[in-house]
Amino acid sequence: MRHHLERTLWATAFLAVLLAPVLLAPVLHGPRIRNGSSLLSELSVGMGLLATSMLVCTVVLPSRLRSLTRTFGIEGVLGIHRFVGLAITLLVGLHVVLVVAANPANVALFDVVHAPDRARAALGATVALGALIVQTVLRRRLRHRYEVWRWVHVVLAAAVLVLSGLHIWWLNHLVRDAAMRALFTVLAVGVLVVLAYRWVWLPLRGTRREYVVREIRPETPTVSTLVLEPRRNGARRGYRSLAFAPGQFAWLRLHPSIWAQEHPFTIASSAHLGLWTEFTIRHSGDFTRQLRLLRPGSPVWVDGPHGAFTLDLHRTTGLVMIAGGVGITPMMSMLRTLAHRRDRRPHRLLMVARTIDDLLFRAEIRRLQQRLDLTVVELLRQPPPSWTGASGTVGAELLTALLPGEFRRNQLDYYLCGPPALVTDVLTVLEELDIPQPRIHTEQFDFV
Ligand SMILES: Cc1cc2nc3c(=O)[nH]c(=O)nc-3n(C[C@H](O)[C@H](O)[C@H](O)COP(=O)(O)OP(=O)(O)OC[C@H]3O[C@@H](n4cnc5c(N)ncnc54)[C@H](O)[C@@H]3O)c2cc1C
Repeated sequence: MRHHLERTLWATAFLAVLLAPVLLAPVLHGPRIRNGSSLLSELSVGMGLLATSMLVCTVVLPSRLRSLTRTFGIEGVLGIHRFVGLAITLLVGLHVVLVVAANPANVALFDVVHAPDRARAALGATVALGALIVQTVLRRRLRHRYEVWRWVHVVLAAAVLVLSGLHIWWLNHLVRDAAMRALFTVLAVGVLVVLAYRWVWLPLRGTRREYVVREIRPETPTVSTLVLEPRRNGARRGYRSLAFAPGQFAWLRLHPSIWAQEHPFTIASSAHLGLWTEFTIRHSGDFTRQLRLLRPGSPVWVDGPHGAFTLDLHRTTGLVMIAGGVGITPMMSMLRTLAHRRDRRPHRLLMVARTIDDLLFRAEIRRLQQRLDLTVVELLRQPPPSWTGASGTVGAELLTALLPGEFRRNQLDYYLCGPPALVTDVLTVLEELDIPQPRIHTEQFDFV
């Protein structure tokens, strides 16, 4: 209920921001076409206004508002962010073409040396926007470290935002009217509040959300579990544990500064474990290797919980969990929580891994089977000759054998987490099986 309300409120807020300037401008300025302004120039103003509203939305989306990530999920939030970013680029392109089509003399505005400030600001914003899109599309091929990529992205986005604001301000005719000025002021203040939350409040609050390492538990040679507990000292006596829904994730930092690296990890422990919070982490790069070297008592700063990949948001008759590799972490949180809740519904878990050694938590999952109605299938992509279980890829045959009949399987909820290729393959199979789309939930351990 609360989830639906939050969804409706956010959707209404975004729609209002998107449409307000475009609808208000013609009402306030009247039919300017009759006053000598051409249809093309009116259209170009409309495109520019829509792009500005979209820019506001696209800045708000990745700002870590917990209500937003809980409502749309991190994949949903970033998916909309990317889509809106591309739509802005298209609108800005059309805006520029229409400005010149309305009056070919406007080509002179591209002359950076002699053009007025409003045109220079627009040119700067357009170039920064182009660079932002190229940087996003080519991220994998550019092979920059994620942190470098992220900071370049933030700086380019800030340039687009500031230069677009200056363009509107220096254009003057859009902010001459008191109502229009008030609307732009509200949008600008809204953006500043959200940015202050993201870049000032969150890091400051983060310094108070300090946890310490209780234990690092090796699971395999490349995976270990980090156990955190809230720091307890005189000043922060009674500090509470992290309250989260099973399947959610948090950002971890090893230093409170905003410049410190921050990485997202799913909370793997039960939502009812008490003071401790566990993260199971594959040591794949510099940050995750640093985590493995932490000692008991080392401080860790946590921002979370975030995300909507959780069983607590959906009513269902049972879960079907499909996990690849370390993508088992949200499933472990869900299973451990279900065991704590003495859940009686039938659940199914399909674990996909390269080799037997990569199958995580096998012993614990067997113990959980004694407390839950849980069917487990293990699938190896590179099985040894002695392996008698499932192997190869996840196909319709395997899933049909795991699932109940057509009527009952449409009442189940499906949770997919793992490498993008696995998630895509399983989505195709679920589509073949006609599983209703709203019942399928995905989380991929990558943002771009
Ligand atoms: C929602 C979510 C939940 C996750 N949960 C887990 C988990 O439970 N266990 C686990 O082992 N891994 C998890 N990951 C993946 C984990 O965040 C990355 O493996 C980790 O950030 C890699 O950092 P690195 O510096 O060690 O490796 P690198 O070699 O620097 O990075 C490897 C790849 O990880 C991604 N990445 C790096 N830094 C970040 C960042 N700050 N934010 C987002 N992506 C980044 C990039 O695509 C990069 O190419 C999760 C990721 C997401 C998005």
